[in-house]
Amino acid sequence: MTRVLVVEDSRSFAAHVSKHIRQDLGFDVVVAPNLTAAKTILERNADFLAALLDLNLPDAPNGECVDVVLAYKVPVIVFTSVLSETLRESFWNRHIVDYVFKDTMENVDYVVTLLSRLNTNPRIKILVVDDSRSYRHAVWRLLSTHRYQVLEAGTGEEALRALEANPDIKLVLVDYNMPGMDGFALTREIRREHGKDELAIIGVSGESGARLSPRFIKSGANDYLHKPFLAEEFYTRVTQNMEMLERIAQVRDMAERDYLTRVYNRRYFFSAGTQLLALQGRRGNSVTVAMLDIDHFKNVNDTLGHDAGDAVLRGMAGLLASRFRSSDIVARIGGEEFCVLATDLVADQALLLFEDLRKCFESTPVRFGEDVVRYTVSIGLCCGVGGTIDEMLREADRMLYRSKTSGRNRVTLLGPGREQAIGI
Ligand code: GH3
Ligand code: MG
Ligand code: MG
Repeated sequence: MTRVLVVEDSRSFAAHVSKHIRQDLGFDVVVAPNLTAAKTILERNADFLAALLDLNLPDAPNGECVDVVLAYKVPVIVFTSVLSETLRESFWNRHIVDYVFKDTMENVDYVVTLLSRLNTNPRIKILVVDDSRSYRHAVWRLLSTHRYQVLEAGTGEEALRALEANPDIKLVLVDYNMPGMDGFALTREIRREHGKDELAIIGVSGESGARLSPRFIKSGANDYLHKPFLAEEFYTRVTQNMEMLERIAQVRDMAERDYLTRVYNRRYFFSAGTQLLALQGRRGNSVTVAMLDIDHFKNVNDTLGHDAGDAVLRGMAGLLASRFRSSDIVARIGGEEFCVLATDLVADQALLLFEDLRKCFESTPVRFGEDVVRYTVSIGLCCGVGGTIDEMLREADRMLYRSKTSGRNRVTLLGPGREQAIGI
């Protein structure tokens, strides 16, 4: 379990912060009332996400605990009532994560947000592009302190190669003045492939007077930082850009996915399906559209209740989604009706795959409290090249109807020049 160390002599304050961290994040909190206790804890196990340090402790009145904790390679958040300008500066130089004042309760929320970021950041890749090695190292240091994964590139060309090899990079810090491709050209080049809603770019430069900030933003950057910058400004801008991307991803997720089952929704199925079919049609590739409908589903609701029905829908969707690649589309298009659009399958393969899936639904009951709910699914398939989504769905629906009328729990396929049914 993720652990956080709180070194704080005020028992009531330590209890207040710990309660929030446990409740909001579900992390384990270990409290030390003084530096000696903190040392004993760290000696035993220093695997902490971060340590929240009070600077004024009975046995360490002047922030001595910061260096002690940093020596154990635990990220430090200073959480204090007073902090002089000189002390603050010296802490940044020693690479603390952040400092937070104890003066208002909102700041406890800030600490929680900060801890949540530290927990998420190791999954986020950031690319630093600058021809200066020492600058790259300094930025690497700042980002590593916040636990981001950092990649480096010395030129624009290197940066483009790094992006191609790591399409999951979320942020690129682009220097303006580099030999070869400059920062504007690189930003424009990145934007040809990566939209602002999936990748953030922060332009960076030490030059002044060249209207760099608007020019970077007009080239496609989200933000701009002037060198030299304060660590605080750097962090706030990086965090702000990451939060923006995460919010966009959240909104997109809500718009595209079904709330109950987490597979795609009807709207996404039709818009992404239309595009996928057009692309595959131009390439002359075969596409399979499947319609799946749970048999006598009304009985589940009527006998075990609506919540049991929901559990069956979730179970079925989970099983269904696990069987396809991310390039295929699995969607819930109605109450207990699901659709799949799968590429690279010829008719015989599609029939075998869905027959296997049908058996899998049949043999994988869903647990709901004390009940074990068995269900079966009828499937209609349409396999072909060059059809529209409406045409293919209509045919798949016709085949589904055949499966239903010929006894349910079976797969019927309309392929090139034939109609075929299997199942019990
Ligand atoms: P058939 O084998 O012919 O498909 O019979 P069926 O009972 O599965 O089909 P019918 O269309 O008669 O009933 C579908 C039921 O699905 C009725 C509806 O209440 C239920 N349903 C639709 N959406 C949801 C949902 O989100 N949750 C639950 N629990 N039930 C739902
Ligand atoms: Mg049904
Ligand atoms: Mg139905």
